[in-house]
Amino acid sequence: MIISSSKPFEEILSMLEDAGKIFVIGCGVCATKLHVGGEPEVKQMCCKLQEAGKDVIGGAVAKAACNVKSMNALLELDPRIGETDSLLIMSCGSGLSIIASVVNLPVYPATNTCSLGGISCGEVKENQCAMCGDCIANFFGGICPTARCPKGLLNGPCGGSMDGKCEVDPEKDCVWELIYVRLKDLGRLDLLDRIFEPKEYNA
Ligand code: SF4
Ligand code: SF4
Repeated sequence: MIISSSKPFEEILSMLEDAGKIFVIGCGVCATKLHVGGEPEVKQMCCKLQEAGKDVIGGAVAKAACNVKSMNALLELDPRIGETDSLLIMSCGSGLSIIASVVNLPVYPATNTCSLGGISCGEVKENQCAMCGDCIANFFGGICPTARCPKGLLNGPCGGSMDGKCEVDPEKDCVWELIYVRLKDLGRLDLLDRIFEPKEYNA
């Protein structure tokens, strides 16, 4: 099971400042077991956000957020997802990254993912989340550089990529190129102006 904890509500609120219409997605696997993203938590989050003045158009729990295969699968989960401006994801970081890969929407983490917590039962998606304990994947369009850049650069790129490929592993795309393209598609290249301090990894 992947261990995640809920972010403080105030942090979630501040992330969602310009989020527009919001849809909340939970996960029926680890996040449900840990009570950070199951049915009750998703309902409670929707209510709290609405009370705080946010435009929440709905919430639903995916069978397994880290196994969402396509936008169509999300629309089958709830067709209102097709009308939303942003997704608040109440799953582990892998679930957030996988969902980000099938939507052209900003995704925001409602949890911090910190460890495997034991047997994974195949629930870990390699290279999607490094379980850093302080999720900031929303600043990178849901593509996590901590997990996917071999140098773990939060302020990339490193300058070594060639033809969009990573200098450490030329078989793979440079994740910072992917982040650039995603943020450009989202009209959020401004997020690249931000400089991140090194993480403390003390969670
Ligand atoms: S920032 Fe990356 S490594 Fe940290 S919890 Fe989010 S997805 Fe996982
Ligand atoms: S080429 Fe891109 S993915 Fe590879 S180490 Fe440099 S910044 Fe990271």
